[in-house]
Amino acid sequence: MGRVNTASAAPVKRYRFPFIDLKAEFASLRGELMAAVTRVFESQHFILGEEVEGLESELAEFLEVREAVTCASGTAALELALQALGIGPGDEVITTPFTFVASAGAVMQARARPVFVDIDPATFNLNPSLVEQAVTPRTRAIIPVHLFGLPAELGPVLELARRHQLAVIEDAAQAIGARAEGRPVGGLGTLGCFSFFPTKNLGAAGDGGLIATQDPALGARLRLMRVHGSGSRYHYEILGTNSRLDALQAAVLRVKLRHLSERTRRRQELASRYSELFRQAQLDKQVPAPFAPPERTHVFHQYVIRCARRDELRKFLAGSGLPSEIYYPVPLHLQPAFAPLGYRAGAFPQAEAACREVLALPIYPELDPGNQVAIVETISKFYKAEARDERREESKPS
Ligand SMILES: *Cc1c(COP(=O)(O)O)cnc(C)c1O
Repeated sequence: MGRVNTASAAPVKRYRFPFIDLKAEFASLRGELMAAVTRVFESQHFILGEEVEGLESELAEFLEVREAVTCASGTAALELALQALGIGPGDEVITTPFTFVASAGAVMQARARPVFVDIDPATFNLNPSLVEQAVTPRTRAIIPVHLFGLPAELGPVLELARRHQLAVIEDAAQAIGARAEGRPVGGLGTLGCFSFFPTKNLGAAGDGGLIATQDPALGARLRLMRVHGSGSRYHYEILGTNSRLDALQAAVLRVKLRHLSERTRRRQELASRYSELFRQAQLDKQVPAPFAPPERTHVFHQYVIRCARRDELRKFLAGSGLPSEIYYPVPLHLQPAFAPLGYRAGAFPQAEAACREVLALPIYPELDPGNQVAIVETISKFYKAEARDERREESKPS
């Protein structure tokens, strides 16, 4: 393959904007947010209480679930979900190796064993046709992750879970508001876990998380577990922990929840625009648009392309001041923290290829559409320089 002569192809223009701009979001919501925070300070009621109850009922309605139980973080949500189902030593939980660490880390924290299954290269999500062969008599649950905001293919997973009597814990940390099977994600499986980390589509001013369920008994159990298993003061019915959402975070989230649908629509518009720009630049073969089947809505937590010579392209973009990120550079089965599981390189070729090829482009509601043009033009320049170099190589006498 020819080498790109990046020096001669380097664009002169320099841009300067961030990969994600939380300050722009704050500027647009400042009045509402400061009023909400002030209300909590005036109440001096900081733990659970009215704000948290209000948020939970608003989220239960938004997610079309019976129970929405807030907790300390998305990671805590996954850990509490596993614990509420009684999953522990000797148990296996099937999940994807191409995800944020917590999806499988929570399983390790429960002293259970994550069993990885490769992804579908078109969606980056768990490949449902590979799940069944990973089921053993020890399997207790499956954790599909709705990665980047695209719902995982749940139909076959739910059917298989019913047949084998397994729980399904949706990791919906990146996909609040996305829909599949006619419903919002998070309420389709046994339990659905969400994160309110500040950069998520619904982000707090700190950490926060949520577990959604249609099962009132599980909901009640989770409510006990997050306050030390305490039903009444200083009486402990089950072993629990401290995993509560602050009233301040709840107040902030109630403001942002009111704007979530409109902000999600903006993300979707920006995503279509990227894909259209790639088509216009005749790059849609090299940079295929993120795949979203019509029956599943993508909420574009990330806009992720797959590309040849990814690391060089990323440097080339950075050379013009254009931000991009890699989610994720190393699959979980090859991380030192998961070495005790004994997986080797080559075990999950699709996840491993994704780690080499993915590039996330900036996508947030305040993103200037002019900057999308700059990104696509610069990517186009990179590949045209590559094509030029290849032609030059070919014309050399051998
Ligand atoms: C962010 C995230 C989590 C963890 O959420 P925190 O609130 O940061 O603990 C879990 N799973 C996925 C897929 C995530 O993106």
